[in-house]
Amino acid sequence: MLTIGCHLSVSKGFASMGKTALGIDANTFAFFTRNPRGGKAKAIDSADVAELRQIMEDNAFGTLVAHAPYTLNPCSDKPHAREFALNCMLDDLVRMESVPGNFYNFHPGSHVGQGAEVGIGLIVSLLNQVLSLKQSTTVLLETMAGKGTEVGRSFEELAAIIDGVELSGHLGVCLDTCHVHDAGYDVVNDLDGVLEEFDRIVGLDYLKAVHLNDSKNPLGSRKDRHERIGEGSLGLETFERIVNHPALRGLPFILETPNELPGYAQEIALLRSLERA
Ligand code: FE
Ligand code: FE
Ligand code: ZN
Repeated sequence: MLTIGCHLSVSKGFASMGKTALGIDANTFAFFTRNPRGGKAKAIDSADVAELRQIMEDNAFGTLVAHAPYTLNPCSDKPHAREFALNCMLDDLVRMESVPGNFYNFHPGSHVGQGAEVGIGLIVSLLNQVLSLKQSTTVLLETMAGKGTEVGRSFEELAAIIDGVELSGHLGVCLDTCHVHDAGYDVVNDLDGVLEEFDRIVGLDYLKAVHLNDSKNPLGSRKDRHERIGEGSLGLETFERIVNHPALRGLPFILETPNELPGYAQEIALLRSLERA
């Protein structure tokens, strides 16, 4: 059975997300650890978290994929912005331990003209400060479209970050299908080739989760505009190959398509129908 879900709002708490997931036939989900623009996080309510953990256990949920605020920029040229990213991630990782063993995904950031090498160095330095030996959470670097000065567009950049991190066993990669396509990786015509390249450069062991998004733009456009599944440049056949690919099929799949809940429920049903035995 596919492990699949979508982004859910944390505004009504953790258990509420679990119940919403059940209502749309999801067995994982993603959520922003705080306001996506990076405000203060709500205090953790332990009864609420315990209820979610029970729902997950009773319904054989897969690993959750939390998402850091997307405004967080670990490789900004501004020290206060880097410090904000550091403090935000430190706080998020403490909070993540209330739901142990899940994933925390973040955008490596934008080097804003400092160059990719400087950017990679700053990201490595942040990760070396936030990762700790005893954490149960795996931190995921998201593959980026390469919009502007985004770091993490190429598998080489992701590998360079992982190489620099001491506790790289606590790291993984979340492959965003819209982003890799917009970055120039041809998942439509050569999914096998893209995943072989990923394996050669990063290593498939690091691949921990997939963001399932179609794209509004052509291959290599570096745009990052998500489209509903089957309605963009990737097309439904590509998603049939993705959810059945031996390197991907066991991973949590998270939809980040332009939808409300009923649309997500339909996409989950559609993708489940594409799964081959
Ligand atoms: Fe993201
Ligand atoms: Fe994504
Ligand atoms: Zn995106």
